[in-house]
Amino acid sequence: MELKDKRVLVVGLGKSGLAAALFLRGQGARVTVSDARSSAALAGEIPALLEAGIMVEAGGHGLLTFRRQDLIVASPGVPLDTPEVKQVMAYGMPVIGELELASRYLQGKVVAITGSNGKTTTTSLVGKILSDAGLPTQVGGNIGLPVIELIAESKAETVNVLEVSSFQLETVVEFHPQIAAILNLTPDHLDRHGSFENYVAAKEKIFARQTAEDALVLNADDRVVQMCASKVKSQVFWFSGTKVVRQGAFVRDGVVAWVAKEGGMTEPVMPVSEIALKGAHNVENVLAAVCMARIAGVAAESIRASVASFRAVEHRLEFVADVDGVAFYNDSKATNVDATMKAVASFAGGVHLILGGKDKDSDYSLLAPLLRERVKAVYTIGSAAEKIERQLQGVVKMVEAGTMEVAVAEAAKAAAPGDVVLLAPACSSYDQFENYEHRGRVFRELVEARRT
Ligand code: ADP
Repeated sequence: MELKDKRVLVVGLGKSGLAAALFLRGQGARVTVSDARSSAALAGEIPALLEAGIMVEAGGHGLLTFRRQDLIVASPGVPLDTPEVKQVMAYGMPVIGELELASRYLQGKVVAITGSNGKTTTTSLVGKILSDAGLPTQVGGNIGLPVIELIAESKAETVNVLEVSSFQLETVVEFHPQIAAILNLTPDHLDRHGSFENYVAAKEKIFARQTAEDALVLNADDRVVQMCASKVKSQVFWFSGTKVVRQGAFVRDGVVAWVAKEGGMTEPVMPVSEIALKGAHNVENVLAAVCMARIAGVAAESIRASVASFRAVEHRLEFVADVDGVAFYNDSKATNVDATMKAVASFAGGVHLILGGKDKDSDYSLLAPLLRERVKAVYTIGSAAEKIERQLQGVVKMVEAGTMEVAVAEAAKAAAPGDVVLLAPACSSYDQFENYEHRGRVFRELVEARRT
């Protein structure tokens, strides 16, 4: 794609929008950035943009700004039904995202991972396995560096391991990973995608450009993911935590096993007991990672050593501390009901669960059976508290904590030695915190303060 002297509009000035604008300018394009936030809110970014010769429109989007362009690069945070975007799309103007733009310039192979939950954990794990095995690996996308920033260091032999979200996939056209994975598909972000069907359709774009030379790793235990298989042109590898698969990775007699092709030899990879991560969901993430790593040619022994030394990514069912015999876990990244279920299911019982935050049109009553089985009390925080209390009334003891501070104090008071205090809130954090990382840090600090 020739960018020199092309007029390109970058909509949305997040981390990837900023990286895209600077990259486009570096390629000689005439770049404008438009963001709904005020110039005061963008004060940190504007000087660098102006210095690079990029025009900036803050405080909203002018329709004329959109019309005078050759290409529009929309940030993942910008809904495609934003009126200005919708209108220029109707005129036939190309609208792509940073992932699509970057993948047109990225050298080497692409391993792309999507799903509703487990993306960051699995992407980090695959990155570690490949780099431990000596492959020239870069990790980025929805995690860490935007894909644009991987371009400079990429070479023909590079393996780029990318976490890709439904928002990024929504705008891909030529994006073509040689190895792709869909970990699971459960309702999330419905407030933004409109329906579960739209959300699944966006995720399916991960394999739209794949051919018979490529590989797609799918979850054999997920009904919605299974249904994708009929639309695939690449070779499908399955992973399952519950049953034997014909081609892919599974668990048998407590051992992670791999079979490269139907009717082929089953190869043991490692005992499940050597996996350092907690919970059955993390075994699934490991199985998916084993598939990708074996497809990329990494030997089983090497995978075993990498997985055994891989610790939880921060805020993902991360062990914080033991205080007076009570274990505190931070799963602030459990921002939907399914992730919370997986987190709770990782403990045999005695759980004091902190739930709440900003609601995403979720159905918390789905938690009821698991709460009855393993949870001693729920401590509600944030703006979703009332809805959670209504939907889970009578299921378990409910403490209206309101804030994280009160929730941690009350849970610590009620917990007996051997119990677990778990932050797995099933909601986003934006009502009381800057983001889930901030929420996790506040939790951790409150727990740390109880140790002294
Ligand atoms: P993502 O990047 O997709 O949000 P993460 O690896 O950050 O995924 O994990 C997010 C949360 O989802 C974790 O806190 C954990 O509770 C839960 N989780 C992780 N892996 C899985 C999985 N395979 N299935 C369901 N839930 C998971």
